[in-house]
Amino acid sequence: MHGEPHPALSVLQEVFGFDQFRGPQQAIIEHVIAGGDALVLMPTGGGKSLCYQIPALIRAGTAIVVSPLIALMQDQVAALEQNGVRAAYLNSSLDYHEAVEVENRLRAGELDLLYVAPERLATARMQMLLDQAHIALFAIDEAHCVSQWGHDFRPEYRQLSQLHQRFPQVPRIALTATADVPTRGDIIEHLQLENAALFNSGFDRPNIRYHIAENQGNAREALLRFIRENHDGEAGIVYCLSRKKVEDTAAWLSRQGLTALPYHAGLPPEQRQEHQTRFLREDGVVVVATIAFGMGIDKPDVRFVGHLNLPKSIEAYYQETGRAGRDGLPADAWMAYGLQDVITLRQMQQDSSAGDQQKRIEQQKLDAMLGLCEIISCRRQALLHYFGDHLDAPCGNCDNCLTPPETWDATVAAQKALSCVYRTEQRFGVTYLVDVLLGKSNERITRFGHDRVSTFGIGAELSANEWKALYRQLIASGYLSVDMEGHGGIRLTANAKPVLRGEQPLTLRKPVKAKATRRGKAGFPAQGHGALWEALREHRKTLADAQGVPAYVIFNDATLAELDEQRPESLAALGGITGIGARKLEDYGEGILAVITAHKNAPASAPVGDSAQESATLLRQGLTPEEIAQARGLAPNTVYRHLADVIASGALAVEDVITLEAAELDQIRAAFTQHTGQGLKVVFEALGGRFDYHVLACVRASLGTQA
Ligand code: ADP
Ligand code: ZN
Repeated sequence: MHGEPHPALSVLQEVFGFDQFRGPQQAIIEHVIAGGDALVLMPTGGGKSLCYQIPALIRAGTAIVVSPLIALMQDQVAALEQNGVRAAYLNSSLDYHEAVEVENRLRAGELDLLYVAPERLATARMQMLLDQAHIALFAIDEAHCVSQWGHDFRPEYRQLSQLHQRFPQVPRIALTATADVPTRGDIIEHLQLENAALFNSGFDRPNIRYHIAENQGNAREALLRFIRENHDGEAGIVYCLSRKKVEDTAAWLSRQGLTALPYHAGLPPEQRQEHQTRFLREDGVVVVATIAFGMGIDKPDVRFVGHLNLPKSIEAYYQETGRAGRDGLPADAWMAYGLQDVITLRQMQQDSSAGDQQKRIEQQKLDAMLGLCEIISCRRQALLHYFGDHLDAPCGNCDNCLTPPETWDATVAAQKALSCVYRTEQRFGVTYLVDVLLGKSNERITRFGHDRVSTFGIGAELSANEWKALYRQLIASGYLSVDMEGHGGIRLTANAKPVLRGEQPLTLRKPVKAKATRRGKAGFPAQGHGALWEALREHRKTLADAQGVPAYVIFNDATLAELDEQRPESLAALGGITGIGARKLEDYGEGILAVITAHKNAPASAPVGDSAQESATLLRQGLTPEEIAQARGLAPNTVYRHLADVIASGALAVEDVITLEAAELDQIRAAFTQHTGQGLKVVFEALGGRFDYHVLACVRASLGTQA
């Protein structure tokens, strides 16, 4: 310890090319190296992999990593090999000879890590193999799969308790990013981790901004507007409930000019594979998918996740939205949900063949999800609370924090809505009920004589959509239920009585006009990338294609940005870049340096194109950047990027584009000077997030042009 570099730290730096540990990584790693068992609860993107990879390199023998998905194993092994780590996997994608070769490497002690599918681990052949090998540790990834409470229960995980019985002296580390309290209990019980140290870093994903909006019948348009305004040309996933909706939505988004690809279990496997590969390798692909997509996808730069339907539980919602922003940069979770979602999910649950207890659990989970949709307080606090976590203050980065919803006294309207259900004998759906309230006399209403009930035509104060929203809220809050026969008829529950009798006032979220919230400050830096950036990216793609791996396995965007900013000119300097360890330096160092040398004098941004000139012309005519965006049908970010390019060329002054006090401008310039070459994010944070990224990008563009 005394001045000696710690072995775990040297591995972090030399093999993985990172400067320091994040959060609890070091404590976990030391605990496992010393032979202790650990249960690690860490949010997605928190850096779980290193928690077993580094002990695997330091402890003698091979680490056996249990992982539920083939794609995930392949990615991890590819990434480890890039760092010169001896890793392999055993799963159904290997043929017999390939598998035998891996087995031989294991027996010969030539592997640091071996990834294995859980069902394989239980086989007699594997058990024999393990007896012949020297095992450093067992890592059980996605440990929540052991629990029936969780949402991806995998029975094979239950057999993993045998590992402990057969190899009691080998340390085990179980890891998960989603485990509520009962799931946690299950993991401990079924994996026999009673004596394991618990490392709980909570589940918060502070870089994800949550938005949940009402679907007012135009969710698709709202989603498109949201993408255009916030994530033009960026990668995202959009979830829908049905295959048909997946296909319709993908086709529609494509017609609107996005690169949108469908993904669901009904597509031919080759097509699914192709769409997944394009999502991983190309820029700016949006995948529209059923829940079948995403598990085991490690793509770090997914900038948004959209939901066009209500997920069936908070766990599912959190896991799906959690696929955004693994790289820690700002990302969005956007959802639109409506009455029909609630009714469909309730019916699916009622019709399912599950046992009563299972149905009750599912019902509770859906209720919790609905509760999250309807709350008027901080979404993140509610989410974390659900997972047994705690956040002291409202987060400031969800829709409810950013634009607090208005509420209204819904008592009288609710009484009318409930009593209309009662008067029409609790047999009808919402559309019918709303027609009665609004006094529409159609053939059905007349036939049933409901044009003569006391609630006929008493609802003129609200529109049809507002009544529908109210019914949705009443169902969501448990005053009404969808009937058991499955015809979608609405019934009163026992909770409705106090409201009907006027004993319980009701305050509800006011329906809002559908309008996408623009990201205020933290939109992904809308910077124009320079020639070096593009050249490095091209170089990375060539390397990745040659090896058949995704580009981020070679090096990720954070590394790319550092290279672009620092422009190292020697191998030694290159080794100091985040994410470049000894092996990558050896394999790719010369090539990267050559690219940097060839482009080091290239201007930081590409020559100003026609489109940028056009934006500048409109600005000179007196339009604001937002108006230009609207007039040209572009995202505001794109327009700011144009204007920054024109500023960099010297043809516009920064003051022409943005309004800032002179003192503010000085302050920003000083911050850039102080953090020379460190990128927008650093400056953004150094200034306490007070200035939008596009403001900073414009100021930065002006720096080179100052006399
Ligand atoms: P998780 O499995 O928890 O979702 P990963 O292990 O995939 O997270 O790590 C997320 C990202 O963070 C990866 O790109 C990884 O290389 C990076 N990372 C992890 N630990 C560190 C660290 N100490 N310093 C810098 N980057 C790190
Ligand atoms: Zn919040």
